Amino acid sequence: MTLFAPGTPCWEPGDPDGTDPPATVRGSIGADVAVVGAGLVGLSTAYHLAERQPSLDIVVVDARRPAAGASGRGTGLLGPRVGPPVDRAVRRHGPAVARRMHRASVEAVRQVVELCDRLGVPCADGEQIVAARSRAGLASLARQAAAYRALDLEVPVLCAADIRRRVDVPYHAGLLHRHSATLDPAALTAALARACVAKGVRLYGGSPLREVRGGDGQQPQLLFPHGTVRAPKSVLAVNAGVAGLGLPVGTVLGLEVHAVATEPLGHETRALLGHGGLAVIDAVPLAPYFRLTTDGRLVVGGGTALCPDGTGPRRRAVLRVFAFHRLEQWLRALHPVLAGVEVTHRWAGGIGVTADGLPVVGPVRGRPGVWYAGGCNGHGLAMSVAHGSYLAAALLGEADASEPLPWHRSRAPRLPVSGPARPLLRARLAAMDRTVRRAAWPELGPRG
Ligand SMILES: Cc1cc2nc3c(=O)[nH]c(=O)nc-3n(C[C@H](O)[C@H](O)[C@H](O)COP(=O)(O)OP(=O)(O)OC[C@H]3O[C@@H](n4cnc5c(N)ncnc54)[C@H](O)[C@@H]3O)c2cc1C
Repeated sequence: MTLFAPGTPCWEPGDPDGTDPPATVRGSIGADVAVVGAGLVGLSTAYHLAERQPSLDIVVVDARRPAAGASGRGTGLLGPRVGPPVDRAVRRHGPAVARRMHRASVEAVRQVVELCDRLGVPCADGEQIVAARSRAGLASLARQAAAYRALDLEVPVLCAADIRRRVDVPYHAGLLHRHSATLDPAALTAALARACVAKGVRLYGGSPLREVRGGDGQQPQLLFPHGTVRAPKSVLAVNAGVAGLGLPVGTVLGLEVHAVATEPLGHETRALLGHGGLAVIDAVPLAPYFRLTTDGRLVVGGGTALCPDGTGPRRRAVLRVFAFHRLEQWLRALHPVLAGVEVTHRWAGGIGVTADGLPVVGPVRGRPGVWYAGGCNGHGLAMSVAHGSYLAAALLGEADASEPLPWHRSRAPRLPVSGPARPLLRARLAAMDRTVRRAAWPELGPRG
């Protein structure tokens, strides 16, 4: 693999589905429900729809193939998190809603563990520690700990010694999320695709959605390069891919994030870095995090997030090399035993980010029968599956609409992705990057 390429995750077999690539959309296809996007959101929607109402004729269409997006390239940390950190959620939405948000994300984790069990996808039960080594991280942890206490949510605080008993890395403090897990997200996505096909869902690939027609009482019509799909109900589960479709869902910004993985480590080295299912995440958003895989590799993700929009392919490739290099530096500095290990995998993937950190899961305004879901802000492994389950219920008119959660909405706030205010977005991303660098690579200085 060249360092400049997006790379391959350490668990992805050549063909994640193990089957022939799906057919492309050709001619005119009709269905009861059309789902566009074969990531976790889209496949979970189709799976739950087919399970609730087996007689439905469902098609799933992807621009490439199942698991081609973030769902096949994640680092597999399954933990309770949706939207902004809990203290900010309390400030924005009030304590009652913040408590419901947290509980919904805990429930989402439980749902995924159960789904893995049902689909035969290996999933290592464990704990997730949100930990801090920097001043910014400690300040964030203190705010979050106070908010969890005030909300009466059981998220224990760990001191340095508590963390050291779990992993031999000098973090100063942490918050413990029990009932978390780690898994191979590509395997889960591929298993969902297979389960959908087994339930009679028709899967198409190599078909990027170009346009959504309809509205004014017309049945939605989805236009692909070589054909169309007509269905009274459609779900666009295309994450940041929605940007090119001109739909009023606000801004779901595509950012590129990165991960690296080592060769399988020896048993003694593994014992120093945690146990099955443990993941350690920095309290500073986007600062590096790590976990072990079942075959003993150390996976490190996070660091610089790139905004590919407006960046040429050459510059993007160079920035990607820097991002991989920094993650490797961080990995080697994590523990002296890692100084000489070989990094065997480096990969990048796209996430969908919103200005307020919340996903969007709701009907598209002015397009009756068309729904959009995406923008999990880089921590959607649990919530994507939950969104699919919610969408299935909503499409069948069975969702509980009495108490919507903040992400049950039709659009995200706008971000200045183009036009004269675009430098503001660049400045915001640069400021986030500086905070991450100060927290994770203090030795590099402000411009490192
Ligand atoms: C490197 C990396 C590490 C991550 N680590 C974690 C983690 O440890 N824990 C966690 O909780 N989350 C993690 N995430 C985030 C998580 O993977 C995502 O939140 C989740 O997979 C999003 O699922 P999705 O179905 O919304 O999007 P995607 O998986 O991106 O699926 C969208 C699908 O839509 C298709 N598509 C896009 N545009 C079109 C179009 N016009 N026409 C047809 N199809 C289209 C794409 O091909 C894609 O298959 C990570 C992401 C990355 C990239």
